[in-house]
Formats: sequence, C-alpha cells, structure tokens
Amino acid sequence: MGPRKVIVKDDAIYDAKTGVLIKDGLTTREAVEQYVDHHYMVLPVVDKAGRPWLLDGQLVFCLHGTQYETVNDDVIHVVPCPDCGGMAIRDEEPLVDTECVRCTQCGHEFDPRLEMMES
Ligand SMILES: [Zn+2]
Repeated sequence: MGPRKVIVKDDAIYDAKTGVLIKDGLTTREAVEQYVDHHYMVLPVVDKAGRPWLLDGQLVFCLHGTQYETVNDDVIHVVPCPDCGGMAIRDEEPLVDTECVRCTQCGHEFDPRLEMMES
C-alpha cells in the first residue's frame, strides 16, 4: 500500500479517488502539507507555478520520490521538466532518440539521463 492520494479544495483535504472529505479547516498551505506528511498521504504533483500535472485529464501523484502514478494507480513514465517543473513525457516521434522527453507545458526537450547526471 502506498500513501493515500488526496486533493486539496479550499481549506479541506479530500480522498482523490472517492471525493470523501478527510480533513477541513486547514487554512494555510503549511497546515495542509503538515497534515499530509503526518498521515501518509500524497498530494498531486504541481509545476513551479503551482498548476497540477494532468495526464489525459487525470491528476498525477509522485510516490517514493521517483515513481509517478495516476489517481487510478496506473504507473506512468513521466519526469519533471527542469525548466518549469511541468510534466515531461516521452516523445512519440519515431525518428527522435527514444530516451528524449518533451515537456507538455513549455515544450522543452531533454534527456532525463543527462539531467540526472547534472543534478
Ligand atoms: Zn517545461
């Protein structure tokens, strides 16, 4: 069992799958993050501007720091864009190096293996 996937709406945390209210009255971002940390929950991945990643309209969650899943527990192969923090997916172009990924938000193309070595 991984952490419970949750979403935040207004001052409250809801279960991402069922929409059930888990906790309300969390008025600050810090309060939300503290509650999530202490209760083994995970929030949707957001980019540097705070916009959530969406894959086919579904929120994306990061588990164990490296594994990405949709709300339905489908493991997906995406990586964060080093520029904007957006979701980068493998390029479908057949002529392009298959390891190359493209950011869905800013269009930045990069090789995640190289990015890992740099950081
Ligand atoms: Zn980007």
